[in-house]
Amino acid sequence: MRAVMSLSGGMDSTGLLIRLISEGYKVSCISFDYGQKHKIEVEKAAQNIAYLRQNNISIEHKVIDLTSTIGILNSALTSNEINVPEGHYEKEQMKSTVVPNRNAIFSSIIYGYALSISETESTDVKIALGVHSGDHAIYPDCRPEFYHALDNAFSIGNWGSERIDFHLPYINGDKVYILRDSLKNCKKLKLDFDIVFGNTITSYNPDENGISSGKSGSDVERILAFDSLGRKDPIQYQDSWETVLSNAKKEQLRYYVMKENGTERAFTGEYDKHFEKGSYHCAYCNKLLFSSESKFNSGCGWPAFSEEDQNANISQLKDTSHGMVRIEVRCSECDSHLGHLFHESRGPRYCINSICLEFKGD
Ligand SMILES: [Zn+2]
Repeated sequence: MRAVMSLSGGMDSTGLLIRLISEGYKVSCISFDYGQKHKIEVEKAAQNIAYLRQNNISIEHKVIDLTSTIGILNSALTSNEINVPEGHYEKEQMKSTVVPNRNAIFSSIIYGYALSISETESTDVKIALGVHSGDHAIYPDCRPEFYHALDNAFSIGNWGSERIDFHLPYINGDKVYILRDSLKNCKKLKLDFDIVFGNTITSYNPDENGISSGKSGSDVERILAFDSLGRKDPIQYQDSWETVLSNAKKEQLRYYVMKENGTERAFTGEYDKHFEKGSYHCAYCNKLLFSSESKFNSGCGWPAFSEEDQNANISQLKDTSHGMVRIEVRCSECDSHLGHLFHESRGPRYCINSICLEFKGD
């Protein structure tokens, strides 16, 4: 049982490595230094390899320098002129973190190495990759159809390709699935789960000491995955675990309400009973929507406003969901769902989810 895999130093490929070892594979790992701002991930990968070797698990590890190759490509992950976006992983802006054709480039190299191992060791070789369903929305080169096509193309173009197969055990799973699988595999191999995942990093923009803010999209996804397993993430963040976890939950709720037309639970929003002087902006795009002058206590459990700012230009749409006819209101700038508008005897009431708003005091 022979496998070659790409070990980024993030949690997905690390989980995959532990899984392959527990399945009895002899594993060769390749880490790519491609000029990524989060290059510390390559060091993290090396730390985990060292930890595994201390536990008498022998792993071949090669670091391949692709800085000049990837350096000519445009991406927020490598370019100093583009900032890594914060917020929910599926936000449109996360597309700036795509490195053009990256996984095809990596896979080509790994495929070539797998063919070489197959020849010299006279064995079948699996190419194992930690791609998972959470990546599919933003990264087309993480989707199953892409790997089927790659496998097909590489098979056509190489002698000996019948001994090489892609192995993507997490392709339909998510980060929670990966962590749960890793817990099981660490236990089986008598490895310390917190040490293994303490030697990983998921952030695309850690500070100069390699510490994550916890605010990038991939961070948020990671933090929520640890929390849903009832565990604390063993890596250190710039803020306390309680703070980064509460931020991550806020991002998750915000995405659900603003992009999936959800509703926050009544009486839970930060601004429901908030009456300071200032202005309320769209939490997604920062457009000015309401002034505190028009805010009133409706008692319904969500922030209520009698009128919108004169330049807000809030979109009104007929909403017939939940067996009611209502007027849905959306931000005209970024098209995010905000809440509903009711015409009542006392006048208009904009009933807005608190999570959609960002308050700025006068
Ligand atoms: Zn907006």
